[in-house]
Amino acid sequence: MKIKKVKDYPKIVIMGPQGSGKGTQAELIAKKLSIPKITTGEIYRENIRRKTKLGAMAARIINKGNLMPNEITNGIMTKELNKPSAGKGYLTDGYPRNIEQAECLEKIAMPNFVIFLGARMPIIIQRISKRRECGSCKAIYHLINRPPKISGICDKCGNILVQREDDMPAAIKRRLQIFRTQTKPLIARYKKMGIFHSYDGEKPIPAVQKQIFRDLKNKGLI
Ligand code: AMP
Repeated sequence: MKIKKVKDYPKIVIMGPQGSGKGTQAELIAKKLSIPKITTGEIYRENIRRKTKLGAMAARIINKGNLMPNEITNGIMTKELNKPSAGKGYLTDGYPRNIEQAECLEKIAMPNFVIFLGARMPIIIQRISKRRECGSCKAIYHLINRPPKISGICDKCGNILVQREDDMPAAIKRRLQIFRTQTKPLIARYKKMGIFHSYDGEKPIPAVQKQIFRDLKNKGLI
């Protein structure tokens, strides 16, 4: 009797240093695969915008470039990943960021495909320091690679563009240091699990995306 292999749903983690293009890739992949994209940083920023209690705490921590406590982040992710919308796959962007978070994710819904986007330090610094964000609709621009039509104004909603507090030099330094010391050790863990896929985040977005989709296909996830 021929046994039909049941296709696993894509359970994707995307990781990489700030400025490696992971936000853009995450958006495109989740859209194409029709899976929810869960971005911890965005959840925290949304709380800051809405001026919630969590937002007040997040503002103090995030603006300095530090990480939010694991207990809070894991609690948020547990809730998000248990939603019915995440029942047929998910993509997490910015989570897990350390071993404790990775262990939590594995208990809720074991990932089966990890995307790592790498880029060299000067490129990362250049990309982050020139990043601007619409204070209202959160559209993202880059002063050189993706400038707005009118300087300082959002193309989409006409509001003023700002530099994120945590994109300022001191916070960037701290965020990259945390990435090196806490998040990078996850690479060995995912390599051991055989789910680690590394890509060159300096290459054009469409080229990287093509490679990611080829690998997802080879793994039988799409
Ligand atoms: P990001 O845009 O992903 O760099 O996230 C912005 C900030 O949100 C980070 O610098 C942290 O302060 C906080 N944050 C996002 N994701 C996490 C996480 N998984 N664990 C702890 N803090 C996080």
